[in-house]
Amino acid sequence: MAEFDVDLFVIGGGSGGVRAARIAAGHGARVMIAEEYRMGGTCVIRGCVPKKLFVLGSHVRHEITDAAGFGWTIPTATFDWPTLIANKDKEIARLEAAYTANVEKSGARIVKTRAVFEDAHTLQLLASGETVSAKYVLIATGGAPNHGPKIPGIEHVISSNEAFHLTELPRSILIQGGGYIALEFACIFAGFGSDVTVIYRGDNILRGFDEDVRTHVRREMEQNGITVITGCTVEKVDRHGDEYTSHLSNGSSIASDKVMFAIGRHPCVANLGLEKAGVTINSKNGGIEVDAFSRTSVPNIYAIGDVTNRVNLTPVAIREGHAFADAVFGKRQVKVNHTDIPTAVFCQPEVGTVGLTEIQARERFGRVDIYKTSFKPLKATLSGRDTRILMKLVVDSMTDRVVGCHIVGDAAAEIIQAIAIAIKMKATKADFDATIALHPSTAEELVTMRTPVARHVRQAAE
Ligand SMILES: Cc1cc2nc3c(=O)[nH]c(=O)nc-3n(C[C@H](O)[C@H](O)[C@H](O)COP(=O)(O)OP(=O)(O)OC[C@H]3O[C@@H](n4cnc5c(N)ncnc54)[C@H](O)[C@@H]3O)c2cc1C
Repeated sequence: MAEFDVDLFVIGGGSGGVRAARIAAGHGARVMIAEEYRMGGTCVIRGCVPKKLFVLGSHVRHEITDAAGFGWTIPTATFDWPTLIANKDKEIARLEAAYTANVEKSGARIVKTRAVFEDAHTLQLLASGETVSAKYVLIATGGAPNHGPKIPGIEHVISSNEAFHLTELPRSILIQGGGYIALEFACIFAGFGSDVTVIYRGDNILRGFDEDVRTHVRREMEQNGITVITGCTVEKVDRHGDEYTSHLSNGSSIASDKVMFAIGRHPCVANLGLEKAGVTINSKNGGIEVDAFSRTSVPNIYAIGDVTNRVNLTPVAIREGHAFADAVFGKRQVKVNHTDIPTAVFCQPEVGTVGLTEIQARERFGRVDIYKTSFKPLKATLSGRDTRILMKLVVDSMTDRVVGCHIVGDAAAEIIQAIAIAIKMKATKADFDATIALHPSTAEELVTMRTPVARHVRQAAE
């Protein structure tokens, strides 16, 4: 008789957990995976996928407006929020079923319950009270929205979780936060016609992104009618019937139909019984402490994805889950490389970025060249839209390697995925220059920028 009920118990049926369960089962392991909410996790149920569907829907407004310059007369368009929500829900349910079917097809067994540790090898399934023993455990419980300090009226505030299920489109919404989720929702609601105000405590939105990107995105968002107030926080929210008043730290107040906070996310480590298993939390980032192979402080327990708070993106969680399963059950040790991960912000216009910002490159390298251009897209010449594209390359001029690429403009995410391959392959500026442009396109500017706009040389310390 086997020593344990299963070889692997996965806690969490999100992007990382599902990949790990399927790959481990494919290697012959007996796998059980617990999900307390819906299979697919944040990305599929209340993250990337429904968000991108909203982005695509809200973009239609721009297309309709832009069409006039190309000769189109479009009768007054109307938008029906409940139709969008119903169609989105149908697609998410289809994806959830596909995730479930794929896991079952791999041979792993799904249990629809919250699972918590009794000890390092024993899990309790809260739905039934049953216990299951496992040789290995993978913690893939993901993250959840922060609500911030308990300000008066916090119970009136929604997060991105609820934003996906509003019964009607708010006429106005105040969104606190300056990160990618806040800005994406700001542009989504503005695109559908809501009056949007963004409140952010820092001096500019998109902290951590290249400074030129931050300035450019803010200008474009303001150009699209979104009010951005920085250096300020929401201190109190009052409800008056169906309307809310947010009182700001600058002394002013703003009335809106909805108030949403998108002020960061935290790893789901609470009430998991981690202390019973002996799993250590990383004191710096609040996630589960892991090494480069996703091993926790307990030899048979691993953790991947957002619960480790390393790089909180779906493809990263998937890659970490796959690497874990290959290492433990496939005898193939793979270390996930967390550098040069391309990422996007699906605001409007969107941001695509990979590698180092100008500031990071200057800290790391002695000589840095900056190539940058900002121009009106061809489409805007006829549509009349007041918008500009930003393209920027950051080059370590000692080696000529392109170490960063930042784009703001339509299709930036699609472009940056391909550029990320070049950067991963350590392409040089000379390689970019040797590539013949594809004309007429936006991306051709990336291979036609000849002269640096700035050259930073670090002075040797005295
Ligand atoms: C609004 C939004 C937009 C996003 N957009 C993007 C994007 O465009 N691109 C991108 O790459 N990333 C995006 N992300 C981030 C992405 O969704 C996450 O990085 C990814 O889902 C992490 O996967 P995971 O497997 O670590 O965790 P999750 O996908 O969060 O899965 C964890 C699962 O564990 C379950 N669970 C938790 N505790 C237990 C327990 N004790 N027992 C049983 N089940 C449990 C949860 O219910 C959940 O289903 C977005 C996130 C949000 C919120």
